Amino acid sequence: MKQSADALPQPEITRSYHLCLSIRGALMNMGNRELEDAFTHDDGRKMTPREAKLVLMDELAKGYKVIPCSPCDNFDYQRGCQGHDEPEAESGAGLRESTERPQ
Ligand SMILES: [Zn+2]
Repeated sequence: MKQSADALPQPEITRSYHLCLSIRGALMNMGNRELEDAFTHDDGRKMTPREAKLVLMDELAKGYKVIPCSPCDNFDYQRGCQGHDEPEAESGAGLRESTERPQ
């Protein structure tokens, strides 16, 4: 998935939002190739499309509507990232915790 969030002109207050993914949208619209590219295991291996779908269905079963595309500590699983006052340092901090293990 492309993550382009640089189109909006920002006023003085920098408030950044993480991208989130609609779980239903992903299940309905993403092709196998997109699923493979978008989901990885905690150890960095790509998920198969089947594994990715299982993860998404597990999240749905928890009542979630959206999942974060990157680690977010202010995330609402119904509405997405609630914003961060400090500008996000776009460093390669790495994913702390992905959605969850398939088993
Ligand atoms: Zn966030």
